[in-house]
Amino acid sequence: MGKSLLDNLLTQKRSPEHRTEIAISPRVSCGGNRLMLVAGPCSVESEEQMQECAEVLSKAPVQALRGGVFKPRTSPYSFQGLGEEGLQILSESGKQHGMPVIAEVMSAKQLEEAHDSLDVLQIGSRNMQNFELLKEVSQAKKPVLLKRGLAATIEEFLMAAEYIMAGGNQDVILCERGIRGFDSMTRNVLDLGAVAVLKQMTHLPVIVDPSHAAGRHELIADLARAAVACGADGVMIECHPQPRKSISDARQALSLEEMTELVKSLAAVAAAIGREVSVVSEQPIVAK
Ligand code: PEP
Ligand code: MN
Repeated sequence: MGKSLLDNLLTQKRSPEHRTEIAISPRVSCGGNRLMLVAGPCSVESEEQMQECAEVLSKAPVQALRGGVFKPRTSPYSFQGLGEEGLQILSESGKQHGMPVIAEVMSAKQLEEAHDSLDVLQIGSRNMQNFELLKEVSQAKKPVLLKRGLAATIEEFLMAAEYIMAGGNQDVILCERGIRGFDSMTRNVLDLGAVAVLKQMTHLPVIVDPSHAAGRHELIADLARAAVACGADGVMIECHPQPRKSISDARQALSLEEMTELVKSLAAVAAAIGREVSVVSEQPIVAK
């Protein structure tokens, strides 16, 4: 019988206790006992928007700040992101509030441009099987947040992670963000079964993005709590100071106040399963 694709993988657990904790910044990690909560807007729109996000979210406390600067939009006529300017705004807002920052890169050129400004490099769903891009980030010196493809099997998802690890970058965080289904009531189908499978099969941290899964702000809190309850190492959630005015993905954005409330209930769920969320006083203070 031929060898299965799933034999001897770098992602594979070597014992039931084997798990990898990835350092994101001196004070933030992903995959340990503490959850990594990531929040921020779908797209970086302005300095004011990002400053307000970082200010409120760092106190929630959310551990890392997200914001798209190169946006993978279905239509070429939709807002494509602020690019270089957005990168600077994101990086500066994160620094001022002691939060590591995460944004998506879609090409080798964007990777080169963004590498030094970002703490985590996001590979979006649409690029999960862009093997050349995976090889590029495998050479990067930063952790990679790999999102599951729009209709990728768990095996394909793991193989994408293998590309990054085999190329030399062991710091891969897997992100379940919903897969295509037949029902239009939610944007995608959040596959919490995949989270349980990935946590059992791999030693890598697994986080959940309920925003792109649900597509509707009123569903996000319930899905985020379910994700934590089923063993996710963190969540990534889109929020905005004026959610309905968000330039992209307005329908799924939480307000900063809603996000702050959600963190409290995530802390309660985490406590129920012996995990925790950092408390406010432990947030790093970084000098301006
Ligand atoms: C995002 O997180 O900004 C994003 C575009 O998500 P996805 O790649 O999961 O669609
Ligand atoms: Mn989005």
